[in-house]
Amino acid sequence: MARIAVIGAGMGAMATAARLAVAGHRVTVYERAATYGGAVGRFERDGFAFDTGPGLLHLPAVYRDLFVKTGKRPLEECAELTQVDPAARHLLADGTAVTLPNASRGGVAAVLDQAFGPGSGDRWSGVLGRARDAWDATRRPLLEEPLWPDWQVLGRDPYPALRGSGLLRRRPPTLAEMAGRELGGPLAALLEAMVLGHGVDPRTAPAAAVVLPYMEQTFGSWYVRGGIRELATAVYERCRERKVEFCFGAPVREVLERDGRAAGVLLADGTRVEADAVVCGTDPRGLLVPLLPGALPWPADAAPPRTEALSRSTLFLALRGPRPGDAVHRTVVHSPDARPVTVLRPDDPAGRPDADHEAVTVSAVCTGAGVPAGELLAAAERAVPGLRERLLWREEHTPADVARDTGAVDGAVPPPALAGAGGRWLYPANATALPGLYLAGGWAHPGGGLAHAGMTGALVAGLIVEGAGFRGSQ
Ligand SMILES: Cc1cc2nc3c(=O)[nH]c(=O)nc-3n(C[C@H](O)[C@H](O)[C@H](O)COP(=O)(O)OP(=O)(O)OC[C@H]3O[C@@H](n4cnc5c(N)ncnc54)[C@H](O)[C@@H]3O)c2cc1C
Repeated sequence: MARIAVIGAGMGAMATAARLAVAGHRVTVYERAATYGGAVGRFERDGFAFDTGPGLLHLPAVYRDLFVKTGKRPLEECAELTQVDPAARHLLADGTAVTLPNASRGGVAAVLDQAFGPGSGDRWSGVLGRARDAWDATRRPLLEEPLWPDWQVLGRDPYPALRGSGLLRRRPPTLAEMAGRELGGPLAALLEAMVLGHGVDPRTAPAAAVVLPYMEQTFGSWYVRGGIRELATAVYERCRERKVEFCFGAPVREVLERDGRAAGVLLADGTRVEADAVVCGTDPRGLLVPLLPGALPWPADAAPPRTEALSRSTLFLALRGPRPGDAVHRTVVHSPDARPVTVLRPDDPAGRPDADHEAVTVSAVCTGAGVPAGELLAAAERAVPGLRERLLWREEHTPADVARDTGAVDGAVPPPALAGAGGRWLYPANATALPGLYLAGGWAHPGGGLAHAGMTGALVAGLIVEGAGFRGSQ
């Protein structure tokens, strides 16, 4: 039985902790905040409650697997998952509204044909079909396996972009360029908004980012009754069942090193904790880099740490009056001169004081500078008619709040890893150059987002339990 110190109680770190505890290790999580979950928090006021992080879950299979591997009760017995159908309503910049059904390729094609003319559905299905090829080619290396030593091969874009009209290209297209050429007009706007929703800028991302809409359309969008925070609670409780110990209010200042190995952690209050292995589940830029000067914890030939990631601006709206029966859970509001804004209206009594009130969450992917609350509110008004007259109060959550919740520099929210673009969208491997030090959570391979960060748990636990030869669990 090894002693393992885990830094942070985010989803990736907790998923790692539960798996290591099942393997017989003594695991202690050191979390600087007073609670678990990191980005997956909850804001409560006057009987209203809002998720402060993700509002939807994609690829629930990652958490189903975690629960199967760590105990007797499956995920469905620990949290109530429901499919969100329709998956989303898009209000396009020209005023057109399109409502896309959940996890239905044929249904989506039919809706697009109706909205934008015959052939639109086929064009969309063509792109999503090629996305499936990219997904099949990269699902294992970009989700289920530790980062390949020859990760450079993942720098090639697996999306089989259609050849342009004789135009000789010096580099593979970005997602936005591919969408413009293969879809154009409103279909391209839809695809770009779906990619941006994952925190990936379509103007700089490789075309392979199309695997993200593919993932949504194929495996569906899910909500957890009571809020996504309930998923964090379920994972935390599973950790506790497996005897993982949690120390809250315990910021880690340094990773201790002895004889060329990670040997424990130094807490901010000066406490030294000895451990046989250390798992860092936080933005390593804030912690490890300054503390191991000259000895970056990833090999020189490893995928470099990602430094750019977009953040989120969010508005929580408390409304008087009941949620209309025909309200859609997720509306994406497009505009010609600003980024799309997502409006979430879950039909969940846990989020409101009573049936005569409604809780609405409005958010946008943004840089660290954030989006003005007025801009978010104006977009929300297009999705929720009469919103201003119904507004009781609003609460703003800025990138600075994200930084407070996660510890990430500038409140950055790391997106999933992507193939293509020469490897610029990859993350450092989970095993570092310092033996005994591992990286979990959204800043390590295979990147951020609930599902991908959850997978770091399987990868890090596999590397610690089975050793460096671990090649994935499937
Ligand atoms: C506003 C917002 C919206 C999002 N929307 C989506 C979405 O729609 N879909 C999706 O899939 N994902 C989304 N995400 C991302 C998703 O929530 C995360 O990728 C996922 O929760 C995994 O997080 P993590 O494991 O990297 O840990 P994090 O959530 O980053 O948590 C890190 C933890 O480490 C702690 N910590 C930091 N430094 C220290 C230290 N020195 N010592 C001790 N503890 C420390 C922090 O307090 C925190 O608890 C969103 C995130 C945010 C913030």
